[in-house]
Parts: sequence; structure tokens; C-alpha cells
Amino acid sequence: MRGHNDPLRNVPALAIAPPARCYYRGETRLGTICGELANWLRPGRDWFTCAYFCDAHRGPSDLPIPAEHAIRRVRVNAAMLFAAACQNATIAHTEALARLEAAVQHAGGLLDVQDVTSTFGKSSPPPRPWKGNGAPIDPR
Ligand SMILES: [Zn+2]
Repeated sequence: MRGHNDPLRNVPALAIAPPARCYYRGETRLGTICGELANWLRPGRDWFTCAYFCDAHRGPSDLPIPAEHAIRRVRVNAAMLFAAACQNATIAHTEALARLEAAVQHAGGLLDVQDVTSTFGKSSPPPRPWKGNGAPIDPR
């Protein structure tokens, strides 16, 4: 049971929570967000105003991130399409998922797979290059 003074006592628990990433945006706070995996917490006035920082951008009074901490989880719903690298569907799905998971982890995210399917079809030819006046460019 949570204590009366626990600031996270009414915060919903995320079943799948990606690791915290660094909020650093440069000294002016107008630069590109660092986004590397964070190890340090800078407490805010409230639980939703705390910030996270990587080893390179931590401040002297930042604290190690506790096991239970609040994050804003960003969910991106999108379709990723791969050409299969194997004729066997199960192996092709597993290989494509492994590549996608590695890419998402490299970006600091966590993959939450909803479904994997595949279909056979013929590829369409690439679009022909066009001149500025709308006429096709002669490939010769
Ligand atoms: Zn950083």
C-alpha cells in the first residue's frame, strides 16, 4: 500500500514502460533533444515536472532514477513493411521483427508488437523519372 505522501500513489502504472531518455536541449533549451538513455532524475515541483538526463548531461544534484518513476510514454501507431528475407513465413516474420526491434531500441524505444502478417504479391516497377515539364526522361 502506498504511503499518503507518495507523489506517484495516484499515477496509473504502465504495463510496458520504455526506459527514460535524456531531456537535455542545450544550454539555451532551444537545441535538439539529446534523447539518449537516462540514468539521472532531476526532481521537479510535481511528479510530472521531473526531468531525466543521461550521464553526459546530468547535473551535480541529480539523483539516480528510482525503480518506480513517472514518464510520458509516446505511442506511435504505424505500419512497417519489409520484403521477407526467407520463404518461410515464421522465419521471415521473426527476422523482420528482430531488425525492427533493434532499430527501435537503438532509437531509445521499446517495441510493443500488436500483430505480424505477410502476403505475397508482385512488386510494382519504380516510378519513371520525369523532367520538370512533365515529360519522361529518356533512360538512355
Ligand atoms: Zn543527454
